[in-house]
Order: sequence, then structure tokens, then C-alpha cells
Amino acid sequence: MGARAGVYRFSTAFIGEDYRPVEDVYIEVDDRGYISSIGRGSAGPGVRAEGVAIPAPIDAHVHTGDYALAGAGLSLRLEDLVAPPDGLKHRLLASMGPEELELSISGAISYLRSTGSAAAADFREGGLAGVLAARRASSRAGYRLLILGRPGADGSFEEVLRASDGLGLSSPLDHMDSLRAMMSSAASYGKIFAAHVAETRRSRETGDLEAVLEAGPPAPGFIVHGTFLSEDDLMALADARVGLVACPRANSFFSGARPPIAAALRAGVELALGTDNTGWIAPDMWREMEAALRLLRSQDPALADPRRVLRAATLSGARVLGMDRVGIIGEGWLANVVVLDESVISPSVDPLSAAIIRGGPGHIRSVISGWGA
Ligand SMILES: [Zn+2]
Repeated sequence: MGARAGVYRFSTAFIGEDYRPVEDVYIEVDDRGYISSIGRGSAGPGVRAEGVAIPAPIDAHVHTGDYALAGAGLSLRLEDLVAPPDGLKHRLLASMGPEELELSISGAISYLRSTGSAAAADFREGGLAGVLAARRASSRAGYRLLILGRPGADGSFEEVLRASDGLGLSSPLDHMDSLRAMMSSAASYGKIFAAHVAETRRSRETGDLEAVLEAGPPAPGFIVHGTFLSEDDLMALADARVGLVACPRANSFFSGARPPIAAALRAGVELALGTDNTGWIAPDMWREMEAALRLLRSQDPALADPRRVLRAATLSGARVLGMDRVGIIGEGWLANVVVLDESVISPSVDPLSAAIIRGGPGHIRSVISGWGA
């Protein structure tokens, strides 16, 4: 499924930043993978307009190495299961050989691709070796995996940074002595700096948000979870122009907590979505979008708008990851498009709501990747 220059016709496409449904649309893609024009009109002779075009999701937070750990430690608490260095996940990852790890990462990539996610940001454990395993797996698959490493026993953070697309820390509190140097090095390389923040009440109370905000400038590109951030914290994030990647299903699974996504939107934070630990949460952004819509409705019914959810899963994901002209179907934008069965939106009262609630890998006809991946 590479980038193919040409004209694509759809019975409906969700166009522009407001995702308005437009019927009988054609989209022309140039040889660099960008949309050169969009127009209306019936399909030409012999070309039947088929399917519903929707921007392809971007999974802004996964751990691909976990894929092979599916089902482990279901009765354990969050800390005992996934917290480094002694959580069960980290002991199991440490016992994997390089080939086994690469196989796990490849499995996660195949799953991401089968759900139509155009790209994913992988918070890679295992130091330099972990980064290199993800690089091999993603290159072989030809998949757009942004690899955010963390220092391990086998390399300094500079070495990890040089080999990766940036740093993705488990917690800033683990690196207080070098946090400032990590953030300024990432900025000088033009790479991403991100960290898990406020996933637990304890980490928030220990000051993980202050740690990343006060170590800058530069500010981090984004933080992940923010489950226990207050309204004031969210205002501080918005002021510092730091994105938030929320993972509603992971929070629900690991601790029953609910990230404050409605408050984040009200504060003006750039809110993206991620699926987190692939061993326990399927890396499927359709399920994440549905969960986010449900959560928004429960936190603030006035914000229960599928446009907000799709934006979080597409444009905002691209923005927090530093991708330009990615995330909507529009002229001059990269042609990352998922084509769904028409039955997903028909019949319906609001086609976009229907697409978010009913969409998923079982209803994907094809995927167009502007990256050719
Ligand atoms: Zn995570």
C-alpha cells in the first residue's frame, strides 16, 4: 500500500479541519504523496466511487516491545506490572533476546497497520539496543514508527538520542540530574523530548509536572497520560504549549482512573491520543477514539463532539510529534487516508459519529499512505 500518485474517488470524504462530510468526491495525489486537489463530481466511466475517506489516525503513544507479553500479570497493580525497573513487564522484557524483541515489535507494527494507523510514537525501553531493534523492525516493515528511546545500561542519552527520533522517558523523576541536558540536547538535534507525567497520583504529588516544566526552556514536546493533572496544571501545560497524549483505555485498564480530557480541551491543551502498552491494550485507535468519545461525554456532554475526538487522533497527534501538513484531508496535506465501508456511515444521523463508533479494522477497505509506507 504505497503512496500512489493518481485520482481517488470516494462516495463520502471527511474534508478539512472541521471534517465536513462531502459526497461524491475525488482527491488527486501528487507523486510526493500530497493531495494536490480535491473536487466534486460523479465518478468517470468505469470508475465507481467507493468507500468513505477519513484521515488516518496517528497513535501518539505505544510500547511495541510489550506485544509479546499479552496476558501477563493481569491481577497485578499498575506499579507491579509496568513500572520500571522491577515491574513484571520490565523483567520479562529484560529476559527477551534481541530476535524475540524484534518479533514482538514487528507484531505490534502489523497490528497498527491493520487498523489503519498511519504512524505511531514508540516509547522504547531497553536503551540503545531497544532503539536499534525497533529501527530494524520498522525499516523491514516500511512503517512510520517514531522511536523515542530512553537511556539504558548500554548507552548514554546522547547515544540513544542520535540513534532515535527523540527521548521518551518513563518518568522525569528518574532523571532529575540530567533532565535539563536531555531536553536541550533533544532540541539541538531537532528531536522530540517526551515523558510520562502524572499517570499516578503519587507521581503527580512527587512533582513530575514541575520537573519537566522547570527543566526548560525548551519545553517538552508533549507529556503522556496527565491522568492526575488539576485544572491549574492543565492551564500551565497550555501556557507552555506542551501537548498532552491521553490514553483512556490504558488508564482504565491499569488503575480504573480517567484522564481529564474534557478539562484539557477547555484549558486549550493540544490533546492527542495513544494506546500505550500493546501487551494489554490493543493498538487500535478506533477503539481509543470510541473510548475517548464516551469519556468526553461523561466528563462534559457539551464537548461530546466526534470532531474533537478525530482531531485528537489525527491532527493533534501529528502536531505533538512535530509532523507538518499531516492529519487532515485537504489540499497541500499529506494523503494519509483510511477508506471505510459505506455501511459504517449509512444509515446514520451524523456520519462522523457513526464512523468513529462503528469504524475499525473489520471495515477498512484500503489505506492510502502519503509516506508510501
Ligand atoms: Zn506508556
